[in-house]
Amino acid sequence: MRTVIVSDVHSNREGLFAVLAHAEAAGPVDAVWCAGDIVGYGPDPSAVIGELRRRGALCVAGNHDRAACGLMGTEEFNAAAASAVRINAAMLSDQERAWLARLPLVAEHGDFTLVHGSLRDPVWEYLLRPGQASAHFGLQRTRYSVVGHSHLPFWVEERDSPGIRRAEDGDALELGERRLIVNPGSAGQPRDGDPRVSYILYDDGARTLTWHRVEYDIASTQARMRAAGLDRWLAERLAFGR
Ligand code: ZN
Repeated sequence: MRTVIVSDVHSNREGLFAVLAHAEAAGPVDAVWCAGDIVGYGPDPSAVIGELRRRGALCVAGNHDRAACGLMGTEEFNAAAASAVRINAAMLSDQERAWLARLPLVAEHGDFTLVHGSLRDPVWEYLLRPGQASAHFGLQRTRYSVVGHSHLPFWVEERDSPGIRRAEDGDALELGERRLIVNPGSAGQPRDGDPRVSYILYDDGARTLTWHRVEYDIASTQARMRAAGLDRWLAERLAFGR
């Protein structure tokens, strides 16, 4: 079984579809998991929600998802992000908002736990440092977990002093006894200087997780963002991966 693991799609239809096409070019995709921030920032929240629902994706909620469906305010967001949340919310149907509102903050599935930020603070914590990884491991009930939120592809192995390892295109991990935290990076708004969208392919037969970077039609997403009235910088940053 081949599972596409994404996070932080942020209403970037072109990004998500490029990831799925890349994975499907190498074989069937049997499942999709998303570690939150399905909407916000980008121009196509309904198309992204529609594709995830069509595929029966396992999803948890991120901060942008919670704000777009009205479960929380945008006081903690910067001005551009808050404006994008409002624009996204206005594009959604009542049914799509209700779907977002039903998403859990944490999902356990087999050997994996999905959460947007961290198990200590599912919505807001950026898991970036070893001490945060230790606290997260302390709450992790499955062998492996998937986080998002930072938009940075990485993995952490549980040890006395866990180190956070940045994942490059093509990096692969064999799943074994050791406990792991992985971040697939962003399938909608990369922030590590590489504008290509990012995902993990989980092959449960081979017991591997492989990170991939994929080019997509950035100009098309940017044009749709401008047409939707989204902040100019939000569109420009896609070209730089920042
Ligand atoms: Zn995000």
